[in-house]
Amino acid sequence: MVTGASSGIGAAIARELGLAGANVSVNYSGHPEGASQVVQEITASGGRALAFKADVSQPSEVQAMFLAARDAFGTLDILVNNAGVQRDAPFLEMTLEQWNRVLEINLTGAFLCAQEAARKFVRRGICPERSCVAGKIIFVSSVHEVIPWAGHVNYAASKGGLMLLMKSIAQELGPLRIRVNSIAPGAIKTPINRPAWETPEAEAKLLGLVPVKRVGEAQDIAKAAVWLASEDASYVHGVTLFVDGGMTLYPAFALGG
Ligand code: NAP
Repeated sequence: MVTGASSGIGAAIARELGLAGANVSVNYSGHPEGASQVVQEITASGGRALAFKADVSQPSEVQAMFLAARDAFGTLDILVNNAGVQRDAPFLEMTLEQWNRVLEINLTGAFLCAQEAARKFVRRGICPERSCVAGKIIFVSSVHEVIPWAGHVNYAASKGGLMLLMKSIAQELGPLRIRVNSIAPGAIKTPINRPAWETPEAEAKLLGLVPVKRVGEAQDIAKAAVWLASEDASYVHGVTLFVDGGMTLYPAFALGG
């Protein structure tokens, strides 16, 4: 199950999991056409996928989606908690609606889906033919789980919250044989941050923050997600994997600070 898989990073993760042999539940909220395109691509490449509509911030919709996915595919092995939004504003002007909506989707939505998945993993237990653990949860966080971000305090607070949600869940669910980790993307070319890369001037400015001098592609995150979900990562638990071209190296200090 990949949440927010109708666009950008989630769509790439869904496609890559499909190529790796997973049956993929493609969650979307507002864009069915994006979700059906992803389903078509996975199916065309020989995989199995279905689209499921749910606003991850709504408990009843999340429960219904997990039930429908289980009915379709029989079971659940991997959850990628990717759905996320930005509602940017200077702090002095940020409305409560902007604050609440970002926290509801990015943090509460991730909590609701992780809880639903973990309950299913515990109930079913380990299927040794598929994995040495009962299930895997991956959060798509952000470099802004550690880098403060003026003008985006709702987003940074949601991602900082995800970091300790992930680590605390990892502490609690490790003994239940559920593997929990995060991926923190840096600047990735998707619709969420189009103004930051769509003109040459904007991209040049953005590259000042990226030591490897390349804006990331959704595929960079998708490859990392497939590895983290695989048995090759079976001893990786409770960590954030930064896939950011070095953005968290604070490149502004490269010249001596
Ligand atoms: P995107 O292209 O805008 O995709 C966002 C996805 O989230 C869409 O599929 C959208 O689905 C879904 N979504 C939004 N609200 C939802 C809700 N209430 N319920 C279910 N799904 C919902 O953005 P993206 O860049 O791929 O972002 C994916 C994740 O990566 C986010 O968590 C973001 O914070 C994180 N991230 C991105 C970057 C970057 O540079 N792009 C960097 C760091 C972290 P619908 O359109 O169908 O509603």
